[in-house]
Amino acid sequence: MLNPNVHQLLNSQINKEFYSAYLYLEISNYFEERGLDGFANWYKVQAQEERDHAMLFYTYLQNNNEKVTLEAIDKPDVTLEKDMDALTASLNHELYVTSLINDIYAAAYEVKDFRTMQFLDWFVKEQGEEEENANDLISKMELFGSDPKSLYMLNQELGTRVYTAPTLVL
Ligand code: MG
Repeated sequence: MLNPNVHQLLNSQINKEFYSAYLYLEISNYFEERGLDGFANWYKVQAQEERDHAMLFYTYLQNNNEKVTLEAIDKPDVTLEKDMDALTASLNHELYVTSLINDIYAAAYEVKDFRTMQFLDWFVKEQGEEEENANDLISKMELFGSDPKSLYMLNQELGTRVYTAPTLVL
């Protein structure tokens, strides 16, 4: 039996991760319309990863014989008028997700739920990488985004990202 508060936070994280996928699909679609197919690819792969994250929380609850309750997924709450809007929305969202993971970790720690803490360790590390990726992209865009040739090359680079399944298996 999981602590009710830990259970509720884990269940809510399923929804948050699916929302993340939705947000990244919105961003991917923005870049598709812009004609920046490499950026669109990058965010489409990111959306796939977010769906994996949701499924990990879903499976973790099921494996622990805890009820899964699926809630409605919100419309992506982002206004994209220029490329940097998408990149900063992405960074801000990852910072928010990091705070959510930390909150679940703190709740698990409080009730000595070491199993959930161990499960969350992977996400703690993953969030570090997500923040780093989002920050790197902002830096590259600040440095090269205003030069069409460089933007073309950055787009090519982001087009090479391929989806790989998560390293965490439940
Ligand atoms: Mg995620």
